[in-house]
Amino acid sequence: MRGLMQSQPLLISDLLTFAERFHGQVEIVSRRVEGDIHRYTFRDAARRARQVAYAIDAEALEFSDRVATLAWNGYRHVELYFGVSGSGRVLHTINPRLTPEQVRWMVRHAQDRVFCFELSFLPLVKAICAQCPSVERWVALCGQDKLPANTGIPNLVSYEAWIGGRSDAYTWPRFEEDTASSLCYTSGTSGDPKGVLYSHRSTVLHSFAVSMPDALCLSARDVVLPVVPMFHVNAWGLIYAAAAVGFKLVLPGPSLDGASVYELIEQEKVTMAAGVPTVWQMLLGHMQGRELRFSTLRRTVIGGAAVPPAMYAEFADRHGVEVIHAWGMTETSPVGTVATLNAAQMRLDPQEQRRLRLKQGHALFGVDMRIVDELGQELSWDGKAFGDLQVRGPWIISAYYSGGTCEYTDPHAALQDGWFATGDVATIDADGFMQITDRSKDVIKSGGEWISSVEIENVAMLHPAVAMAACIGIKHPKWDERPVIVVMRKPDMELSRDDILALFEGRVAKWQIPDDVLFVEEIPLGATGKVQKNKLRALCRDYVTWAA
Ligand code: ADP
Repeated sequence: MRGLMQSQPLLISDLLTFAERFHGQVEIVSRRVEGDIHRYTFRDAARRARQVAYAIDAEALEFSDRVATLAWNGYRHVELYFGVSGSGRVLHTINPRLTPEQVRWMVRHAQDRVFCFELSFLPLVKAICAQCPSVERWVALCGQDKLPANTGIPNLVSYEAWIGGRSDAYTWPRFEEDTASSLCYTSGTSGDPKGVLYSHRSTVLHSFAVSMPDALCLSARDVVLPVVPMFHVNAWGLIYAAAAVGFKLVLPGPSLDGASVYELIEQEKVTMAAGVPTVWQMLLGHMQGRELRFSTLRRTVIGGAAVPPAMYAEFADRHGVEVIHAWGMTETSPVGTVATLNAAQMRLDPQEQRRLRLKQGHALFGVDMRIVDELGQELSWDGKAFGDLQVRGPWIISAYYSGGTCEYTDPHAALQDGWFATGDVATIDADGFMQITDRSKDVIKSGGEWISSVEIENVAMLHPAVAMAACIGIKHPKWDERPVIVVMRKPDMELSRDDILALFEGRVAKWQIPDDVLFVEEIPLGATGKVQKNKLRALCRDYVTWAA
């Protein structure tokens, strides 16, 4: 017997329709590329998203054709999020920090037909446009008055001219909820970029899940600043969640430096901000020297890399800001686990609570996880055994995008026995709290024992003069690999090799203490703000020669 409830596909356009009807007056505030602040409401965004849909129809795009964006977090990007996916096309968000070759590779792989870009990326677009034959329309995200003449880019139009003058009476089409909605390539820190193709269903379910109290606890009383870019796993789902929940959205544009982010938080009375640790490093660095305080910020969601304990302490103890540590990846939409505590855990002593909050946390309903050994045998949840982390659920990838219209993709190609292998190494404790000990390729194997590079980095970061630290394994004739810690000093601060090594005494086992400390001017970061350990390893190849 079937249930007798209404069956409606879960569609992204419904999020926006809901927003317009029930909290149409809620603001979306954006810092523009020009530096000024733009404000309007969800009602305005919905109206303009429908104009976007008409503009796309006018290009004669087929159902599921790709529209690329090379854009910061801002209101026009929001309109494209809903206008492109809502009309049944696929929004392909591209990371502007990639090289022109990588961007071109992705456009050709996805066979994007329309390409929307921030005017500041004009040189990049000029460099690639001749080699992107699938693109028939180039759209500069600006007003007609700002569009430069004689760019050499064919079929170039300003966004405002493209959507302006069109009707806003568009009726969103209804289609199957498993239809592709957006596309994001992994940044390639672990090999070639791979396309992850989200569906309307996965996106809407993920929006429900992240909003829940023991996830990101999003409410209509919040003012949320996604510093995490809209080109990086859909800004962790916060744009869609904003439409569903009705919180005020504050979008930082290209200005991610500490001073600009701080100014926006204070000016717009932000209550919750989300980003990767490197961004918060810049914000806290800006505040430290100036004795600045937050007047409204209550929570930060930090993910993408482990939260260093020193950063947690700075937010919690100095600023009274709750840190919500979350884990996920492009392949998981991205939120998989969150470190929020249950009633029994809240009765533990404060140190123990902090220890738990620094783990990556419990799964959200909709995500199942397990750890396995090399033979694929499940390991026990004792908080000690560590193995490869695998996940499954309705917003977890089943197969990578094979490009173009992707007609021949095996629907389970990325899975092993129905599970997706994350490439992370983790423990899970008896309460189901997961802790990443490393990425499988970053684990240091010394004398048959594994050393967690994350743990070593966390100890080094305890020193107030350390701006950033990264631990890598270097080849060793006897032990196979030994850890070395690469350190970037804070400007004008004294810091010696012995200062760093002294930190490890009593904090880690003797054999886990790094063999050496390497000071560098800069630690290379990838396109999503993560340390590029492959580059550091290349640097240290010389180091080994020198040491020998
Ligand atoms: P990539 O960096 O390969 O492009 P993602 O941006 O999707 O991919 O990053 C996913 C990876 O980031 C995870 O597999 C994990 O290694 C790391 N990661 C994400 N969140 C956390 C976290 N809270 N703690 C530790 N590592 C994390």
